[in-house]
Amino acid sequence: MSEPRVNELMEKIVSLCKRRGFVFQSSEIYGGINGFWDYGPLGAELKRNVKELWWTSMTRRRDDVVGLEATIIMHPQIWRASGHVDTFSDPMCDCLLTRKRFRADQIELQSGTAYHYTGARDTAAGRAVTEPYAVLLPAGKPPESARKTASEFYRLRGLAQPELEGERMEKVENSQRFNPDNGSLLTEPRPFNLMFKTYVGPVADEDNVAYLRPETAQAIFVQFKNVADTSRQKVPFGIAQMGKAFRNEVTPRNFTFRSREFEQMELEFFIQPDEVVEALCGTVATPSGPGHPGEPQRNWGWQMWHQYWVEERIRFYDAIGLPRTTLEEYWQKPEELAHYARATVDLLFKFPFGTQELEGIAARSDFDLSQHERFSGKSQGVFDEDLRTAWGKLPEERRQELSGRYHDARLKYLLRAGVPAEQAAKDAREDADGLAKGQYMPHVIEPSAGVDRLILALVANAYSETTTTDEKGKTEVRTVMRFHPTVAPVKVGVFPLLKNKPELVAKAREVHGLLRGDMLAFYDEAGAIGRRYARQDEAGTPFCVTIDFDTLGETPALKDTVTIRHRDDGRQERLSIAALKDYLIARVR
Ligand code: ATP
Repeated sequence: MSEPRVNELMEKIVSLCKRRGFVFQSSEIYGGINGFWDYGPLGAELKRNVKELWWTSMTRRRDDVVGLEATIIMHPQIWRASGHVDTFSDPMCDCLLTRKRFRADQIELQSGTAYHYTGARDTAAGRAVTEPYAVLLPAGKPPESARKTASEFYRLRGLAQPELEGERMEKVENSQRFNPDNGSLLTEPRPFNLMFKTYVGPVADEDNVAYLRPETAQAIFVQFKNVADTSRQKVPFGIAQMGKAFRNEVTPRNFTFRSREFEQMELEFFIQPDEVVEALCGTVATPSGPGHPGEPQRNWGWQMWHQYWVEERIRFYDAIGLPRTTLEEYWQKPEELAHYARATVDLLFKFPFGTQELEGIAARSDFDLSQHERFSGKSQGVFDEDLRTAWGKLPEERRQELSGRYHDARLKYLLRAGVPAEQAAKDAREDADGLAKGQYMPHVIEPSAGVDRLILALVANAYSETTTTDEKGKTEVRTVMRFHPTVAPVKVGVFPLLKNKPELVAKAREVHGLLRGDMLAFYDEAGAIGRRYARQDEAGTPFCVTIDFDTLGETPALKDTVTIRHRDDGRQERLSIAALKDYLIARVR
């Protein structure tokens, strides 16, 4: 899908991010490096808050999810098993004139007249180039302009005075074969692997190749057994991980949306295959309609779990300030699904540059653990005593039916994976026979989110402008970042009304000290109070506390109280210092 190249709101957001220290270009003083971004003081806090909220809601507040923190570089075989070495690529093409690189599937569709040439010759020099070339011109443009571009192309191939040959015109509609900037023909698309390669150890040869992980998920799969054995968790349970991922994106763009180094927050939630649930519970519960299916139940099949996680993730976004109305659910069509996936829902956010993926929630069958079992030669299945007992009590025809279905699914996987037919038949039979012994391969539901995309969504969603008019009639447009208090980088601004009154300053310092152990509190005494509010509004600080003469007891009834001002509506209320901390904690955590 093509995206608009210029977007005023995005420009404002990018400029605010730099001006206020949310996001900087990486290596900026050296001209930057494409696809890499740094988080400044406010951005670093915002990011930490988001990660902390995800981690808390995914692991600490649940009995059935535990955490993992794995290395970025792992055994290269992992990326063969996962399919990344062979298939993790984007189609890429280059402009034949400027060498600019494009992702072939993202080039905007173009129509017009293509001028084809079979080659060119330089009569004076007695040389010729027979490489064909073409230029696309929008309707109504004179052919001269195509000839100029084509001459440029042949000049680059060594002809000082090219005479174009074999000109032919063709009407073209919705083509992605030409550079949208200059009309030049592009190279044929070719796959480009997105993994960053490196070498482990001092010898830079093929035996020592390693990859920077392109996703955090694989580490979870390869540590599944260790975690299951040590955490006393039993399927269904999940393993969560967040951390850096690296993809050598062909065309990084849209600010941090598509970066080459980014962070992911991923959960692999392992579930029993439906046949196992049926053996244990008699039947498998399937969704009765849209919406959250409620607390997990033992008889849930993969569809219930999948829907549960889609809804849980939407609830998470809602709770941190991205309401449902800002999100869209996109259910991938059967032809779009990865071959192993049973269903994938992309949660899309309405970014200023278009509605795009924030998170994907995929039902990935037992593909990942099965792949690692085959590639490592280590069993990845689990044993469940309850299954063994339940199986023993099933009527024979039920056993036949369930093990038949399990067998067919395993056989399908093994044949797809390229296991020779005879071997696959034998392995699938063994796998199906394992059910009677209480053994099976877990399936997985994977909610996979990007931290940086979420930060960008939160920033875009928070961005708002208000116009104020002062006493002299001067109007001013101010930016207010309406972050949800739980994600806001600074939670509270603390101000003495005047900076030249030592008693006010001392009291304000005291209040600041009282709060700062529990939240990021920002002390500011510089400038008029209105200016200080405006600065905090721009940083997205939800509350500002002002210490004034009443705080010191000028109005005795108000002694030791402060004004607390709300960012979004400018409302002010009076609160005792003693109650302040609890008041804020209840709102910002
Ligand atoms: P896209 O189609 O947009 O490239 P994807 O489907 O390849 O994304 P996944 O492999 O499913 O993405 O990765 C899970 C999540 O990681 C995405 O939903 C996104 O939030 C994040 N992510 C993926 N690639 C990038 C990137 N280059 N920059 C920032 N975040 C990314």
